[in-house]
Amino acid sequence: MREFAYSRAEGLDQAVGADGRFIAGGTNLLDLMKLEVETPDRLVDINRLPLTAIKADGQGLRIGALVSNSDCAADDRVRRDWPLLSQAILAGASPQLRNKATMGGNLCQRTRCGYFMDGRSPCNKREPGSGCAAQGGVNRNMAILGASDHCIATYPGDMAVALAALQATVTTRGPDGERQIPMRYFHRLPGDHPEQDNHLEPGEVITAILLPEPFGGRQVYRKVRERASYAFALVSVAAALRMEGGRIEAARLAFGGVAHAPWTNDEVDELLAGERPSRALFDKAADILLADAVGQGGNDFKIPLLRRTLAAVLSDVTGE
Ligand SMILES: Cc1cc2nc3c(=O)[nH]c(=O)nc-3n(C[C@H](O)[C@H](O)[C@H](O)COP(=O)(O)OP(=O)(O)OC[C@H]3O[C@@H](n4cnc5c(N)ncnc54)[C@H](O)[C@@H]3O)c2cc1C
Ligand code: SF4
Repeated sequence: MREFAYSRAEGLDQAVGADGRFIAGGTNLLDLMKLEVETPDRLVDINRLPLTAIKADGQGLRIGALVSNSDCAADDRVRRDWPLLSQAILAGASPQLRNKATMGGNLCQRTRCGYFMDGRSPCNKREPGSGCAAQGGVNRNMAILGASDHCIATYPGDMAVALAALQATVTTRGPDGERQIPMRYFHRLPGDHPEQDNHLEPGEVITAILLPEPFGGRQVYRKVRERASYAFALVSVAAALRMEGGRIEAARLAFGGVAHAPWTNDEVDELLAGERPSRALFDKAADILLADAVGQGGNDFKIPLLRRTLAAVLSDVTGE
């Protein structure tokens, strides 16, 4: 690991706009520093900031950015009213990691593309303009939706997929003040700037995640992965559905492991609303979702896998 300076922010004003990389749990950033994929000159430790509370906020909940993933998943209010979030967090990493990993850090974790993590391979995300070794290379884990000629990597996290389905908001404080970014627009598609994972500006701190009022209904997070523990999603489906008189009253879906960001599609949610659940309906939803899906060879299997996982989840939540 290269030499770097270290300082500790004692308050939010000291952290905002700081010249350096924020470190929270360190479970992603330190790994990438050891691999010399990340080479910050300065780490700014934000663990002393007062961002560790989970508080009621209007009809919803405000979860501080430094709340650990374990504490959020175990919170009684989250488990009762936003169970999708608990399920998604518990589907990720291991208990030890979740104890250390924070809400803000989890949102900013970087792709698990093997070429990105291997300093010897061309990678536009690690070194803009150097190329993309995954195209024509090993691409089993790569994106089938929203990729670009510059990058086909996926965002690897689980929690953000649930937050996108639940229509949560990310609150930040930057040099220009506070802002709220809907979770569905927090991460970026790669376009021609795959080195930028999300819409945070330099020196901008995530302060909290806001959950809107409970959506209710049945909520299921299903993650398909190579093995039962310590594996990132091949594909995942986050679903919250309300039923009324045998029809789907409202649906909120999001998908993981398939794009550079948690993937949502309003057309799919709208198609389902007001309909009686059936295999034909689930198939139609998958047709819309996958209309622009493109495989890279090694990941072609994700297209039928996502179709089947969506049908299985919809069948589970609707009882059809
Ligand atoms: C073996 C292993 C398996 C894993 N499996 C999964 C999995 O299955 N699913 C899953 O979702 N995740 C998984 N993870 C990833 C893990 O969830 C993340 O490493 C963790 O959530 C990151 O949180 P952190 O607080 O440690 O972030 P850090 O490593 O401290 O920071 C990560 C990034 O976030 C930035 N950052 C941190 N806090 C803030 C803030 N408040 N404002 C602005 N920027 C901030 C940092 O500057 C850094 O760029 C796994 C990790 C490991 C090591
Ligand atoms: S897919 Fe993206 S992260 Fe992976 S090698 Fe290509 S540019 Fe880098």
